[in-house]
Amino acid sequence: MGLLRVRRRGAYGVSGGLDEPEDRLRRFATIWSRAVFPVTATSSTRPEFEAQLLPLARRLSDALKARAFDADEGKAVGAALVGVHCTDPEALSRSLDCVEAYLVLYCGGDGDQEDLRARSARLQHAMAAGYAQALRARTLAEQEAISAAALKAQGVVAQALHATEARFRAVFEGAAIGIGIADLDGNILQVNGALLRMFGISGQTMQTRNVLDWTHPEDAPQTWKLYEELVRGEREHYHLEKAFYRPDGTVLWTNLTVSLLRDADGTPQYQLALMEDTTERRLLNLRLRYEATHDALTGLPNRTFFFERLEKALAAGEGQRFGLCYLDLDGFKTVNDSLGHAAGDRLLVEVADRLQSCATRPGEMVARLGGDEFVALTTGPDTERQVDELASRIMNALLAPISVDGRELTVRGSIGVVEGPAGERSAAEVLRSADITMYRAKSAGGNRFELADPEADARAITRHGLTTALPTALDRGEFFIEYQPLVHLGDGSVRGAEALVRWLHPQHGILGPDRFIPLAEHTGLIVPLGRWVLEQSVRQARAWRERYHDGGPLRINVNLSPCQLTHPGLVQDTVDILERAGVQPDALCLEVTESALIGADDALLKPLRRLAEMGVDIALDDFGTGYSNLANLRRLPVSVLKLDRSFTQSMQRFPADPVDLKIVEGIVSLAHSLDLAVTVEGVETGAQAEQLRILGCDTAQGWYYARPGPPDRLHELALVDATG
Ligand code: C2E
Ligand code: CA
Ligand code: CA
Repeated sequence: MGLLRVRRRGAYGVSGGLDEPEDRLRRFATIWSRAVFPVTATSSTRPEFEAQLLPLARRLSDALKARAFDADEGKAVGAALVGVHCTDPEALSRSLDCVEAYLVLYCGGDGDQEDLRARSARLQHAMAAGYAQALRARTLAEQEAISAAALKAQGVVAQALHATEARFRAVFEGAAIGIGIADLDGNILQVNGALLRMFGISGQTMQTRNVLDWTHPEDAPQTWKLYEELVRGEREHYHLEKAFYRPDGTVLWTNLTVSLLRDADGTPQYQLALMEDTTERRLLNLRLRYEATHDALTGLPNRTFFFERLEKALAAGEGQRFGLCYLDLDGFKTVNDSLGHAAGDRLLVEVADRLQSCATRPGEMVARLGGDEFVALTTGPDTERQVDELASRIMNALLAPISVDGRELTVRGSIGVVEGPAGERSAAEVLRSADITMYRAKSAGGNRFELADPEADARAITRHGLTTALPTALDRGEFFIEYQPLVHLGDGSVRGAEALVRWLHPQHGILGPDRFIPLAEHTGLIVPLGRWVLEQSVRQARAWRERYHDGGPLRINVNLSPCQLTHPGLVQDTVDILERAGVQPDALCLEVTESALIGADDALLKPLRRLAEMGVDIALDDFGTGYSNLANLRRLPVSVLKLDRSFTQSMQRFPADPVDLKIVEGIVSLAHSLDLAVTVEGVETGAQAEQLRILGCDTAQGWYYARPGPPDRLHELALVDATG
């Protein structure tokens, strides 16, 4: 008994539960086939149909999880649906619903949900596109078959007319396509059941009608000209798409072939019309087109549609211009994260409605590009003014709070505005410029719009280029270090130097740290780069000591970024570097900005404290810019204060601002009472140096002594000081 139970459970574990990906896939195929089977035109049974869907389900599942995403898989699946006779519009719509609801659930595995959802949405779009394409191809093939059938039928009917009435009847009534015969004046003589069903008309009514009554506003221009030619005997047949009004006012769309029937002598006698009802297919195509070009959530035109319109606007003739507002909501992610996606969706729908009401003039449109990104386009000869107004209208439209789930949410947005003449830029270029400008608006604090500026664009593009080039720059040895001496204010001797990194960029030349340190911090490259700077500088300190040991103890100051502070390897790396170079810890001073230490907790201070205990000096850089609490200084493991350049600058004027002097004097005395040395930065004149010396500062750094330069320059300075 016990054995049996164990074995069963084992068997269940192997092939039973939904934990198996293959079972989940089958389950998905089952659901799909159940949803779609009732609306297919297939002659298979439901299980057979399911077996046909299974490989399609597998393709979707694989595409969902493939390392490199390929939306074309969705297209292929869409096309295959047509192949398995899912040609009813409802079949596609149910398939898409099914994929939307169950694909990620059953086939997503434990991948990133958001990513899977995005992929599933793209697969659905591709499915719709593939489906539409296949259906169109099939329609064309069918049309050809019908033309061929029509020709054949024409022969048969002609023969039947000449032969026996009975045979004619059989062909006529048995046909699946609508057939009607009229005389050359257009009087309808006979129609078959299929045609009556298409029109929803009785046989009697039909026989009172004349072909010429059947005009429709959407008739192609040549329709009636072809007709005239045929009844005059100048043409044997023609083929076109034509709409008819049914008696109930609805419209019937057909593929219509009309042929001329001649008697045995060749005299024109009748006209024979063969028609196929294409109304549903047409509606489906319209709907597919709509679905492929509109956003499902908000109903706004989507990216595809917007690109079509933008390209058209950019291809417009001389004198035509375009204006584009690229809107990204500020802080939308927070709404999504805190209130949930459903609330986020409702917010987007409301925003979409408001935007829509901003762009109602002719030539204006609004679209959703995805997520919380929207665009508004205006076109015409006068968009310079219009786009400004459009952007203001949008900002105004967002002012009133949006109520979601009983909460009043304040919505803000950043807009990048691009305006210009048609014919100069591609749609992709315009959109990129708008995107960059939007980010500029965002980083200026958001809730505003900015105008595109080619120079700012160029800067952003260079920044982007620099970011991508950074990682290889270190391997290629494109960085180098300049040293700026630190001079003792009392005796003028060189006590050390600050290491300042530069990048010799192959295209842009020498770039200062302000251009790339923030990027390196952002990308994390600052850790290896900072380690490299430290290693080089410490080696340099070693070299100075060896060559100029009588020139006094030269120390090296190295800047540390906040990211390096939190990196777990900091202490060990520093110890290793010092040991490998054979340099004492007290020859090194690490500079940390005041702002990096504001509010620092013990965890952050611990590595600095360890380093300080080993004898490494820690300097508080840019002191006086970060509003730190002076009383807090006691907590920090620092031994040097580096007064920010702004204090030195205020000493340039003569006489210096007495309040500034008092502040510096106060800081210096506080620092000294805490046993901290004071270094001043940015000393550019002798007067400044003198003033700072009087105020009690210990060391100074600045152009007055030397600009940052190659390491050899420092030898010269040090040597001069030592001897002079
Ligand atoms: P910082 O640490 O405040 O460095 C001093 C900056 O002031 C340097 O600019 C230096 O060239 C400049 N300077 C020196 N004397 C004078 C003067 O008399 N007048 C004026 N107007 N400026 C003077 P630099 O080299 O452009 O460095 C800028 C910042 O980049 C540094 O500011 C530092 O925060 C950062 N940095 C430089 N190298 C590194 C590094 O290796 N790692 C990290 N994390 N940051 C670095
Ligand atoms: Ca510094
Ligand atoms: Ca500084």
